[in-house]
Amino acid sequence: MSITRTLLIDADDTLWENNIYYERVIAEFVAALGQHGVPAHRAHETLWETEMRNVKITGYGSNAFCQSLHEVARELGVTDLELQISQWENFILHHPIELMTGVRETIPRLHACNRLILLSKGRDDEQLGKLRRSGLEPYFHVTEIVFDKTVATYQSLIANHRLTPSETWMIGNSPRSDINPAKAAGLGTVFIPYHTTWQHEVEEINADGGETLVLETFAQLADHFIKEIP
Ligand SMILES: [Mg+2]
Repeated sequence: MSITRTLLIDADDTLWENNIYYERVIAEFVAALGQHGVPAHRAHETLWETEMRNVKITGYGSNAFCQSLHEVARELGVTDLELQISQWENFILHHPIELMTGVRETIPRLHACNRLILLSKGRDDEQLGKLRRSGLEPYFHVTEIVFDKTVATYQSLIANHRLTPSETWMIGNSPRSDINPAKAAGLGTVFIPYHTTWQHEVEEINADGGETLVLETFAQLADHFIKEIP
């Protein structure tokens, strides 16, 4: 059987939990600022503004996020959280990988009849470390860690890996990063919504462009992308 189809698969909050760790740290950070008299809404607002300013320069991942925490604390006049912030960074960087439901069973089956490419934003060392710890590394033909996921990102992946758009699907939890730009580049898309998605990644799915499958779980990919070998 020759493999003609390629599945580009997002990692964070598609293969494994990610946003929950950030939410946990944000809750503790806001509580710590609260002890210095900073109202929670002010802490959240300042963090959001700081992250939106920084993300264009620093990109994604725990280090970029914690740089923003340092900046917010300084801006709000709180100076004794330096050590705590580096402990939070360490926590996000080294937590054990918790795979999403059905991933462990489904990835090997998808691998058997599709070319799988991992496509993730963030820092190489952090994302590759998670992939190694997940035990899923052997199932990916290629791993691409990118600064951002824009239409241009997808277009260059198509060119670099000689992908045929009509036989290539992008699978992920973020409309902003995984679905809309991939659709604009002519790929099929599979949206697997997750209950906690970073506000920055939330947007409406464009009606234009190729088909978007919406699935409830990762395991349902098996209904669409596994050809039984006769
Ligand atoms: Mg994701």
